[in-house]
Amino acid sequence: MIDNEDDYFLHGAVGTESHDKIYQIYNAVMKKIPERDRFDLQKKHVVVVLADKTNSFCVPAWFILQQSEEICTSISIHLIVLSPGIVERPRRSAVYTIAHELAHAYLGHSYFVNSDEEAKENEIKADQQVIKWGFKKELMSDPDNYIYGNGIKNVFEP
Ligand SMILES: [Zn+2]
Repeated sequence: MIDNEDDYFLHGAVGTESHDKIYQIYNAVMKKIPERDRFDLQKKHVVVVLADKTNSFCVPAWFILQQSEEICTSISIHLIVLSPGIVERPRRSAVYTIAHELAHAYLGHSYFVNSDEEAKENEIKADQQVIKWGFKKELMSDPDNYIYGNGIKNVFEP
């Protein structure tokens, strides 16, 4: 199994205090994820960006590469965009959010779903994965988690 000890790069806001703080937390989260799952995550080409203004989300994207008139291949990535707001939150809550978005990528969730039910299910499944990875304490510390907290209500019953 290949698992190099390289650090995991965080795009966006490079050189700022916010970047340094979230970079540290993101790397700590990655290193706590069991090696086999981390390896699977790396195969999904996860790109993590600390954004200026947005909520945190994970979205799959595909790049189509045309090699000849007939042959196309594609590369898929998972883009995780982290809200700048997570910088202000307690470390545990930031850990939870990052683990939750990584779980969406790990589970191959699509950003576009057919129903609210499917969307809710994906949020629950992502949180179940967060717990499997050993972040239950961090999940429980966030009142907006999807299993025990207000997450579902906040998103689906505004
Ligand atoms: Zn989610």
